[in-house]
This record gives sequence, structure tokens and C-alpha cells, in this order.
Amino acid sequence: MHGPDSTHDPALRSWVESANVPGCDFPIQNLPFGRFRTHGSEPWRIGVAIGDQILDLKLASELCPWPARVSVWLEPLAAGDLNTFMALGTRPRRAMRAALSAALADRSDQGPFLELCLVPQAQAQMSLPCQISNYTDFFTGVHHATTVGKLFRPDNPLLPNYRWVPIAYHGRASSVVVSGTHIRRPNGQYKPQEQDEPIFGPTRRLDYELELGVLVGTGNALGMAKTMAQAEEDWFGMVLLNDWSARDVQSWEYQPLGPFLAKSFASTVSPWVVTREALEPFRQPFVRADGEPAPLPYLDADDNRERGAIDVQLEVQLQSRAMRERGQEPVRLSQSNFRDAYWTVAQMLAHHTVNGCNLQAGDLLGTGTLSGPQPEQGGSLLELSAGGWHPVILPGGETRSFLLDGDRVILRAWCERRGARRIGFGECAGLVEPALPWPPLL
Ligand code: MN
Repeated sequence: MHGPDSTHDPALRSWVESANVPGCDFPIQNLPFGRFRTHGSEPWRIGVAIGDQILDLKLASELCPWPARVSVWLEPLAAGDLNTFMALGTRPRRAMRAALSAALADRSDQGPFLELCLVPQAQAQMSLPCQISNYTDFFTGVHHATTVGKLFRPDNPLLPNYRWVPIAYHGRASSVVVSGTHIRRPNGQYKPQEQDEPIFGPTRRLDYELELGVLVGTGNALGMAKTMAQAEEDWFGMVLLNDWSARDVQSWEYQPLGPFLAKSFASTVSPWVVTREALEPFRQPFVRADGEPAPLPYLDADDNRERGAIDVQLEVQLQSRAMRERGQEPVRLSQSNFRDAYWTVAQMLAHHTVNGCNLQAGDLLGTGTLSGPQPEQGGSLLELSAGGWHPVILPGGETRSFLLDGDRVILRAWCERRGARRIGFGECAGLVEPALPWPPLL
């Protein structure tokens, strides 16, 4: 068990001036990892976001003196391999964070070397932060589960297993893409309510889902479950996740085996991994409302009750094509908080491994849509438009029940509290492109 340390000191400042600007997503207290390059011909390398710059860890390992053990950890990072570092565990993560914090702090001895290792974020091309071999999407947003459950089953919104099992389905890792990648409207099969038989064509109900994605650090061997204590130590960090969804395809295909093609066409993640260590100051007690059952022992731990929840504020913004053409900024559609989730990160990991399933470094675990308790806090258009019946009104008079071609969806997240420096996740954005014709034109 750990708590905030000197790397979280809100008074700590960096010699990278843009990191000291109030409200900046990437102050020296954050230090998220990402994978980038500046030219198409250059090999990918891992960097650390600081202010509006990136500390290039390839250059930093070549040009700057480091303690011996830090040099060893920098090798895979310099080669663009985050997974090897992610798998090392808590101690190297904390030691690397301390080393990076010291190197980037005001009056650091390493400053003069590292000034040569900065790349402006505006000049960098980002990739997925790591190799993601598996993607599982949970359903921890109890307000989302209840609201959507009502749309599908008015008399029985929350199924009885919800309060006992961290529900999830196995997603598709191959179609996880980094922020900025355009999203092609998928074709699929669905049954309009007024028709007796299904039809095939571009989805008419394309939606986003506001989620956080947890990246696994240390994995587990096949057959060896993680305890809650191990699960808490073994996750590496978090990204924003947009689990794009075709609602008409979903409602037609989901019974009895769950989501399939309604989800697997694309899922977008933000490029910067905010580490578990950076989130330390924003831990909160994990409390269930009165009348809710206590988790079974394998999903329960003192540490989880004391600090299992994380105060992460979340926001969805949308910019339509018309808004873009008028030079109008994106508009906020909703806000919510990860604190309201029904299950914690450690419970997701512990549950995932309890049958012996082996997690691997870089595996992505989605939280599920994180909606707030109020109707206007829905983390998807399905919720905000009440199943399409009450369209959302945009500035300029446009309405949206579901996404239209040309819409750009932007997810944001940040952590903020008295006595700590605010940290942010950057953005997770995607622009909707028209469907391709079927059969494909040659
Ligand atoms: Mn989802």
C-alpha cells in the first residue's frame, strides 16, 4: 500500500515552463507514457508528456546520465516497447517516476542534457501506447446499466447478477485505434421496429461510449488467479476509451451471447497512459449505497474499501460538420465521474483472473460506460436521447439522436482536488466517416 509522495507535491515545478501553466493536463505531477515519432520513416519510441512537450526517452537514454538501474529500464522504452516496462511491476514503476520527476524538476542537474530531448507534442505522431493483445469491456457504470436496462426491459432494468458479478464481454483488440483515427460507419444487420424481418445497411444508430480503459501491468500465469492485493498492484495505468457502438445492430444481435459486430468495428483510446502512481492523490473510499450487498470475499479487501475508488472527472464533447464549418468549438454533451462506478479497478482484475484466465501486460480492460446519476449525465447518446426519442439539441439548432457522418466526438478526463496539482488525460477523439458501399467497389 502506498500513498502520495514527493513526486505529487503540488508545489513541484518543472524547468519545462508549459508544464507549470495552471490547468495544464501534463504538469510534472502527471508524467504519462505514450508512443510517438516525428517522421513516418522514424522508429517509434516511448516518451513522457510534460506540458506541451514530449520527453523523448530514446534521446534521453542516449544523451543524459541516469542511475544504472534506470538506464536498464530505459532500453526497452527507447526502442518503443512499453509492454516490457509495464510488466516489471510496482517498484521499477515508482523508481522510474521518481527519476523522471527529479530530472524534469526545476534546477535539475539533468535539465541541460534533457533540453535537447524535448519534442513539441504538436509535431509528434502518436500510436497506440503499447501492444494490446486482449480487450475486455466491463459494465461497471451502474447508472448506465440501469438506464439502458430500462430501455430494453422497462420492468426489470438491472438483472440480478449485476450486484454480484463484474459483468463483461470479450472485445476485439485488433480494432483498438489511437485518438485521431477516423471511424468508418459500419454496415450491419438490424431489424427496424416496424418491420418483421431484418435489413442490411449502414447503421442508423451509431453511438459513442464514455469509458476509461485500464492497462494491465504485471500479468498472471494461466491457472493462477490474482488476489485483490495483487490485482491492485498489477495494473499499470489508465487511458480514455470510446467504445463506439451500433445500437441497432446491438439490439438485434446481443441475445443470447452478448455484443459482437455492434462493438468490434472500432474502439478509440487516448495516446497517453496516466499511471496508477499519478492517480494516487485522487484515491477515495469505495462505498456501496445502503442496501447493496457486500462483494464476495474474493472481490473484497480492506485496502479496496479504504481507497479503491478514483476521483476522475469525465466529459464528452461533440462537434458536428456544420459547427466545424462555422468555426464553432465543440459543445459539451455530458459530465460524469469514475467514482460512481459499481466496481473498482482491482475488482475488475481480480474477477477476470479468478477462473485462472491469464492477463498479459498491455491487456485493455474497459470500465463500461461511465454515466452519472442524473439523466443529463448519460455517457452515450442512447441515454441522452432516451433511446432516440428525445434528440439532443446542438448550438445552431441541429439535433442528434445518434451520430451523423462528419461528427467529431471528443472524450476528456482530469483529476482535481484541493491540495493536489490537477492532472489530465489529454483527449480521445474520433471523426465519423460515411459507410462504405456494399458490395465493395473495386
Ligand atoms: Mn462499452
